[in-house]
Amino acid sequence: MEFKDFGFAEPIIKALTAKRYVNPTPIQQQAIPAVLSGKDLCGIAQTGTGKTAAFALPSLDRLARDTKHTPPLTCRVLVLSPTRELAAQIAQSFRDYGRFLPLNVATVFGGVPIHKQIRQLSQGVDVLVATPGRLLDLLAQKAFHLKGVEVLVLDEADQMMDMGFIHPVKQIVSCVPKERQTLFFSATMPKEIAGLAKQFLRDPVTVSVTPPATTAERIVQRAYHVNQSEKQALLTHILRGEEIDRALIFTRTKYGADKVVRALAGAGIDSLAIHGDKSQAQRTAALQAFRNGQIKLLVATDIAARGIDVSGLSHVINFEIPNNPDQYVHRIGRTGRAGQEGIAISLVSDDERSYLKAIERLTRTQSEIVPLPEGMAELVRNLPKPAPRKGAEARPPRPQQPRQHRERGGRSEQGAQGDDARRFRPRRKKSVGAYKGAVQRVG
Ligand code: AMP
Repeated sequence: MEFKDFGFAEPIIKALTAKRYVNPTPIQQQAIPAVLSGKDLCGIAQTGTGKTAAFALPSLDRLARDTKHTPPLTCRVLVLSPTRELAAQIAQSFRDYGRFLPLNVATVFGGVPIHKQIRQLSQGVDVLVATPGRLLDLLAQKAFHLKGVEVLVLDEADQMMDMGFIHPVKQIVSCVPKERQTLFFSATMPKEIAGLAKQFLRDPVTVSVTPPATTAERIVQRAYHVNQSEKQALLTHILRGEEIDRALIFTRTKYGADKVVRALAGAGIDSLAIHGDKSQAQRTAALQAFRNGQIKLLVATDIAARGIDVSGLSHVINFEIPNNPDQYVHRIGRTGRAGQEGIAISLVSDDERSYLKAIERLTRTQSEIVPLPEGMAELVRNLPKPAPRKGAEARPPRPQQPRQHRERGGRSEQGAQGDDARRFRPRRKKSVGAYKGAVQRVG
């Protein structure tokens, strides 16, 4: 099947051609015809499956075919997203796919001055992508209303629930006209989310690409049983031994994320943290550095990592194991995308073993347990001191020497600051294939 089979309006076909998209992904194949026919949709899919285009393309098609003027202070398509990063990404997708349409796309999220957003919205917009809290603020200030909404999209509904947005979301939905099309997406579909979907949707078509509670295909899962106090040394050892394109390292807390970044910096390994205590500018800079390959390692909390879409994510490392197994599915769903094999590595301490069990029960898979490296005690003893707390992890890397040069011996960011710690040199190592015999494949 090809995109041209959907019969999209010409400007959309043009944009898809410009992006060199030819074949729709499975979620797109299933969802697009239903959405084009005006049906409500319940989509069970993770980031990385192409779900954004699954709702953006048919929504844009509607705008392209019915080019009425957007009334002031409202929008025609409203997308709710749990995080600002995801909101920014979704808006960018709408702009990309809608680049040949006369289209006004805006985002609103917290952490940036509200008055600028108010000004931007006063003329009305075609597409608004918003996080629930900030949108409610705008509605409360009567700076915006939702009476013009024709299409309502709720993206990552399970995350919105986890992040405590359930009441804001319900309030927002109650302000949207009943006569609307609703597209509801969630990576997992526990009972509460299914209840919410039932409340918001009318006679929906349900499509699912990763059956709920299973992990994505093509992800190799490995786990180490390790003491909490040894985790940092083990992480450093793993990072030196793996061929890493780009890895997301998950910690449970913001403090934990900063601590990992400082410890890695001490060992001469560049990474950046992304979490809720960082300013919007820091988060954007970190994400940008990660996307363009300036930095290979991003250390994130679950909340900050929501919706981050970066291609070529070779590894997800669980420095701490989530106590909610769905969260694990979300985390590792970030690797192994676009037909590439991904590796998920979990560092499991004694008190996290029960979390791993719960994950294995939910996903009906088992991680390969990898023995600790020989000389673990020595690795712990030899672990260099963490870099000093201030600013080290918050600053994006220096603007750029070419990447190869850096890898061959250009000074790292920490090196440039006079730290004589050993440098991180990605070595030529075992390819993924080298593990093939030993690993548990999922899917
Ligand atoms: P999403 O799951 O919406 O975050 O999309 C994941 C990635 O796949 C994004 O970088 C999209 O640009 C890309 N993508 C989506 N649909 C297609 C497609 N049909 N062909 C190629 N790439 C796609």
